[in-house]
Amino acid sequence: MINGVGAIGRVAALLVAVAAGVSASTSAMTKEPLAKDLFGSMKLPAVSKPQSFGFYSRGCFAGGVAIATDGPTWQAMRLSRNRRWGHPAMIKLIEKLSRDAVADGWPGLLLGDISQPRGGPMLTGHASHQIGLDADIWFTPMPDHRLTPQERENMSAVSLIKKGTHFVDDRLWTPAHEALLKRAASYSEVERVLVNPGIKKKLCDTVTGDRSWLRKIRPFWGHDYHFHVRIGCQPGSNGCKKQDATPNDDGCGKPLAWWFTEEPWRPNKNPDAPKARDVMTMASLPKQCRAVLDAPAPESEAAVTLGSMGITTAAAPSAEPADPDPGPLPVNAYTSPLKQQAPVPQPRPKNNNR
Ligand SMILES: [Zn+2]
Repeated sequence: MINGVGAIGRVAALLVAVAAGVSASTSAMTKEPLAKDLFGSMKLPAVSKPQSFGFYSRGCFAGGVAIATDGPTWQAMRLSRNRRWGHPAMIKLIEKLSRDAVADGWPGLLLGDISQPRGGPMLTGHASHQIGLDADIWFTPMPDHRLTPQERENMSAVSLIKKGTHFVDDRLWTPAHEALLKRAASYSEVERVLVNPGIKKKLCDTVTGDRSWLRKIRPFWGHDYHFHVRIGCQPGSNGCKKQDATPNDDGCGKPLAWWFTEEPWRPNKNPDAPKARDVMTMASLPKQCRAVLDAPAPESEAAVTLGSMGITTAAAPSAEPADPDPGPLPVNAYTSPLKQQAPVPQPRPKNNNR
């Protein structure tokens, strides 16, 4: 009996300790809101001249535009996430890639996540995609019919990697996949295209002729049912931190071989450790991101959406004969009809440029 009471007492003491621990961590969290909650609740972009602040995995952006849910050569997936936003250069590039891919024989693009309206860390998924310069594109070709919103939520992509291996499933891989990746890598603004190591290996083993574009194709975990296009910091974004240049070779040697060792696939020793997004507050982001959060929104999503509602993009088929520079976009958050004067985020001081 005494033992029994003692056990109950210990359990009670433990419960008190657990409750105290929970309330302590909650108050620590509520004191300073998490950046993912602030940016994750933004429905529209910051009206401003387009600018990215910080790094792909730690930043935000202003002056974003959305790609339409549907265009002649693309359909956007997972619409409920509201991640069809990017720097105008990124959105313009996706639209161009979709047209070029169709000309190459690909049926059209299924678009995955780009960024939240003002970027920043996300509630779920992606460590990067924070500054409007990253986009995921499915390896699944666009179907020949308009998907319903429900299909766009539920349809699952097909992995190109053979189950239980790190190699491409040869029953699924086609020359059209190679052509699509080559096209994506062909644009000067694209710095990296992330794919599963098995896909990189397939390209290394099979691409003939010009192999220079393989330099931009980078192996990474995941990326077996979609690839990830990353463009560089854009002109006018002094607060955007560049990533290191890729080595000047095809990347098919030693660095790729590492992915086919056991090391990269070891189970995470500490799977419950908080991810960066679970601790990042506004203090973790460039200070301009506060102004990005506070900036006014455009009057509507349609006003800053490209490729729909009769808004034509810079290089629409009706454009004049081949213009090497399609010029500025006809619409972006900066040119929105909003009358209110938009506060433009302050540039970073020079001594804080990294
Ligand atoms: Zn991605």
